[in-house]
Amino acid sequence: MRVRFWGVRGSVPWATPGSIGYGCNTPCIEVSDSQAGAFLIIDAGSGIVGLGEALGGSPRPVPILLSHFHWDHIQGIPFFAPLHRPGWSPAIWAPALADAHSLSLDSMFTSPFFPVPRDRLASPPLVTLIQPGQIEVGGFRVSAHRVTHPGGAFAYRVHGDGNDVVYATDHEFGDIAVDEQLAAFALNADAIVVDAHFTPEELLSHQGWGHSSWKQAADFASAAGAGHLWLFHHKPGRPDAELAEVERRARRVFPATTVAREGAAFGT
Ligand SMILES: [Zn+2]
Ligand SMILES: [Zn+2]
Repeated sequence: MRVRFWGVRGSVPWATPGSIGYGCNTPCIEVSDSQAGAFLIIDAGSGIVGLGEALGGSPRPVPILLSHFHWDHIQGIPFFAPLHRPGWSPAIWAPALADAHSLSLDSMFTSPFFPVPRDRLASPPLVTLIQPGQIEVGGFRVSAHRVTHPGGAFAYRVHGDGNDVVYATDHEFGDIAVDEQLAAFALNADAIVVDAHFTPEELLSHQGWGHSSWKQAADFASAAGAGHLWLFHHKPGRPDAELAEVERRARRVFPATTVAREGAAFGT
């Protein structure tokens, strides 16, 4: 299984000269297994736009799994090239959260927000709401699990042939029962991608925001016995120098840590 980061920032794309090194786009990762012919996109932040262009011109199924409906995880959808090309088969799986329904994403295409209504898209996406548990998406077996976030969100474990990847962003550590369940969910995963929006110092004044610090992510990786930790959902505009420092500090807690960078990839 191979994972590539197309967007690693949280909340909003925000490029500044001093922060562009790690990328400015919001969450989107590509998961593929060329041997099994499996392919899956997780989250559709602004990073999915570049991925859409990279998919080329030959129509194919494009499965997209959303962690939740906040703007930074869906804002790339209207600009995702396969929706505007005939013959493609985009399909979105999204969590059945309290305020979500199958038409929730349609409003992105309504006037005055977007010039092309959903029914005039060349390849409109099919939307399926999912519950926690096991699903098959894009040729992968995927487990879904609730995390702590305003409005709700799901974490996912993608089961590979000998290596599992856990994607757990937009989660606020602190509810011991939820965190223990999440550690069991992520147990012994080969790689985990975890919310590291804040520093421990910033977290003190951001309780209830639904995000975590790199320190909590590193402690979590250690408790879950993860093979590698990827710090993710960086605070928008956080300078490259600060992210490099975050990586140094996090490695003192959990040595196998890397700050996720747009364009970075891991796995085979
Ligand atoms: Zn987010
Ligand atoms: Zn969110």
